[in-house]
Amino acid sequence: SDLSKSNQIQRESLVFHEKLGSGQFGDVFRGTYKKTASHLIDVAIKILKNKEDNVETNSSEKNMILKRFFREAKIMQNFDHPHIIKLVGVCIDDTLSIVMELAKFGQLRTYLQNNINQIETTILLLYCLQLNGAMEYLESKKFVHRDIAARNILVFNHECIKLADFGLSREIDENVYLASKCKLPIKWMAPESINFRKFTSLSDVWMFGICIWEIMSFGEKPFQGIKNPDVIKLIEEKQRLDKPEKCPNELYKLMLQCWEYDSSKRPNFSQLKNSIDFIYTQYKDKKVP
Ligand code: ATP
Repeated sequence: SDLSKSNQIQRESLVFHEKLGSGQFGDVFRGTYKKTASHLIDVAIKILKNKEDNVETNSSEKNMILKRFFREAKIMQNFDHPHIIKLVGVCIDDTLSIVMELAKFGQLRTYLQNNINQIETTILLLYCLQLNGAMEYLESKKFVHRDIAARNILVFNHECIKLADFGLSREIDENVYLASKCKLPIKWMAPESINFRKFTSLSDVWMFGICIWEIMSFGEKPFQGIKNPDVIKLIEEKQRLDKPEKCPNELYKLMLQCWEYDSSKRPNFSQLKNSIDFIYTQYKDKKVP
C-alpha cells in the first residue's frame, strides 16, 4: 500500500468498545486510540469484513474489497475540512481497520428523528450550510462524492455535522467519471447518473439538493413508497419533491435549482454557499423559530 507509515496504528494501541453500526463492507466500533500513554483519542474503528469463510467470495472479489478499503482510507487521508470526518490512521494485521475521528451523536437521520421537537430551523439551516462548505471543498479538490445523503452524515455535536463515507467516491482528473456497476442510491441520484452513469460535481449538486431536503424534513426519506424505476419517470415528467414544512421558501427555490434536469443549469457549490449563507444569516438574526 502507498499509505504513509505514520498513519499506521498498532493493534495494541486500540481499545474496542461497543458496536456503533455496520455497513456493506464492515462493522464500526467505538474505540480509544492510545497515541501515547497520556494521549487518548476517542475514535470510530471500521473493521473490514473478513469474508475468508465465505466460499462464495472469490479472490477477485476479495481483491476488490481490499482496493475499496485502501481507496477509502487514502481519500480520507487527503482531506482536511472541519465538516469532513478525519482519518486518524489505518490498522493492518489479520484484519484491516480504518480508524477515524468519532462522531459522538451518530447518524444525522436518527439524530433529527429523535430530536424533532428540539431542533430549530436555524440549526437545520446551519447543517445545510456546513454540508455545503464540505461540498465546496470537495468541488475545489475536483472530488466527486457520489453518495451525498443524510445516512452518510454524522453528528459531532448539536452545532456540527460531518460528511463521512468516501467508499463510493472517486478522484477524478476529468469532469466525468463513468461508474462501474454497484448498488446505487437511485432516489438521490441525478438523472444523468441514472441514465448514463455520469457523475460530476453537478450531479453531486443534485444529490446535495436531496440531502438538504432530508435535513429540512427531519430525516424523512425521499420518494417514500415509490419504486426505484418509477423515480426516474417522475423526474422526467418534471415532478420534484415537495417543500418540507419547516423549509424557508428561498431554500426550496435553491433545491429546485439543484434539481434542474439539465446539469449546466444547476448552481455550483460556491454559488450555493453564498445563497445558503444569506438565508442562514437572515434566520439567525431574526431569530425566526
Ligand atoms: P456502506 O459502507 O455500506 O456504504 P454505511 O455508510 O452505513 O454503509 P459505515 O460507514 O460502515 O456504513 O458505517 C456504519 C455505521 O457506523 C454508520 O451508519 C454510523 O452509525 C456508524 N459510524 C460510522 N462512522 C462513524 C464515526 N466516525 N463516528 C461515529 N459513528 C460512526
